Amino acid sequence: ATIPAFLSEVVRRNASRTAAVFRQTGDRWTYAEFARLVDRLAAGLLAIGVYKGDRVGIWSPNRPEWLLAQFATARIGAILVNINPAYRSSELEYALNKAGVSCLIVAPQFKSSNYMAMLAELAPELDTCPPGRLRAARLPRLGSVVQLGPEPRAGALSFDAVMAKGGPALRARLDAIGASLDPDDAINIQFTSGTTGAPKGATLSHRNIVNNAISTARAMRLRPGEGLCIPVPFYHCFGMVLGNLAACAYGAAMVIPGEAFDARDTLAAIDAEGCAAVHGVPTMFQAMLDHPEFDRFDLRSLRTGIMAGAPCPEPLMRRVMQRMNCRQITIGYGMTETSPISFQSAVDDPVERRVSTVGRIQPHAECKVVDGKGRTLPVGQKGELLTRGYLVMKGYWDDPQRTAEAIRSGWMHTGDLATIDTEGYCRITGRLKDMLIRGGENVYPAEIEEFLVGHPDISQAQVFGLPDPKYGEEVAAWVILRPGAQMAEDGLRDWCRGKIAHYKVPRYIRFVTEMPMTVTGKPQKFVMRDQMIEELG
Ligand code: ATP
Ligand code: MG
Repeated sequence: ATIPAFLSEVVRRNASRTAAVFRQTGDRWTYAEFARLVDRLAAGLLAIGVYKGDRVGIWSPNRPEWLLAQFATARIGAILVNINPAYRSSELEYALNKAGVSCLIVAPQFKSSNYMAMLAELAPELDTCPPGRLRAARLPRLGSVVQLGPEPRAGALSFDAVMAKGGPALRARLDAIGASLDPDDAINIQFTSGTTGAPKGATLSHRNIVNNAISTARAMRLRPGEGLCIPVPFYHCFGMVLGNLAACAYGAAMVIPGEAFDARDTLAAIDAEGCAAVHGVPTMFQAMLDHPEFDRFDLRSLRTGIMAGAPCPEPLMRRVMQRMNCRQITIGYGMTETSPISFQSAVDDPVERRVSTVGRIQPHAECKVVDGKGRTLPVGQKGELLTRGYLVMKGYWDDPQRTAEAIRSGWMHTGDLATIDTEGYCRITGRLKDMLIRGGENVYPAEIEEFLVGHPDISQAQVFGLPDPKYGEEVAAWVILRPGAQMAEDGLRDWCRGKIAHYKVPRYIRFVTEMPMTVTGKPQKFVMRDQMIEELG
């Protein structure tokens, strides 16, 4: 189905149920109210000249307007371009020009970043142009800027004013526009997390994301009226598809703790709204469990959710099941390019499988594991994971070359290493790019990370390779200790010896209190590596 067709069915079935709760702003909508707001904004966008196929950028943390923009753009067949809240002006310039964004919806500021100031730096014309009629030398495609909140900057339109333009005559056109859309139309450009380098713009269709949302919600057995707590960023498909769209798929409520992840706010939201489900990347669950006030919150309503986005250590999974009462937590594995989830555990999979694998391939998708020459490997052998089916993106926006490298004969080359057992359960064993070769031995950082977090004093560990004149590469580790714990480099190395092969014992160890992260909460090893190379000279 298209997103408008999907939403109208959702609203028909759940009109009086709660659709969304924004804890920070106090906004609380039923599905009927939500649909009305979406229609107003969709009509307002038509009024300012946004049509099917136009790219509408959104640069904002998790705010109510984000959710409305997600569905309003889809309602008129415009393509939403998710702009990372962590971007600064040069990245913004790249993303807006790359995607040819003609209308940008922007939050005035977020934390210490003043988005409007950064935008005006790129487009000083904003202060002299009539509102909604920008012509900027460095952003030639951008025509209108829609600013959230009161008192927009001179050349910008206010979000409320755009909503107000969505009168009955324009709203009456929405159904006809919706009927003209095709499920295979592009609806969304999402930049990948940037874990391994510069983000790529994955282009997704209605069909891609609606079906992925339905499928993942079904795997969690989400039910009408339940609450799904969404502390993950909307900007990423984890928030926008597995959170927002998946909640809609079964008439559940989207509960948004705040503009960005905060462990305490998330725990408080689950408690106050009685949420049945919560999503997060592993480090978010870790932060909740480690929070000094953890025991003050009542999490008895919690049942399920998705942990995904990075390797999910088994001890962490067990703590989430036991201490957070999240007994039916599922693991998901996926990537932006596959809308995003391709493997997910089911709530009734045996616990052993749920903590140690990423589950089985989604319905209506295919997978295989291949060697370096593209030959399919026998069951159980490690190689690159390939996936195929409805969930594979249309391609990277305006980048036929990288698209052709990533998708060959319909198969998405994930760049991840995996094994799949005889029953179809998949284990992700690292990234192809992450693998390092030390003195001729293949070293898989994920394996060492899992080993290190088995130490009672270690909360997080990231392992990567550093160039080494003698061995080609050497193993380096960044480690975060549990609160109050103390450890010396030599002590940790001694603990490793005898338990793992000598060539896997980290030669370089650094104790840190935080890691460089993407907004999706993933540690950026390339940043750590660059920093250490510079320091070691
Ligand atoms: P970039 O492609 O820009 O470097 P990224 O790959 O982190 O960034 P995403 O699309 O957000 O961008 O993340 C997908 C990747 O996250 C997968 O390719 C995989 O490496 C990792 N991943 C996702 N889920 C899991 C999981 N359950 N276990 C292990 N790794 C996972
Ligand atoms: Mg990637």
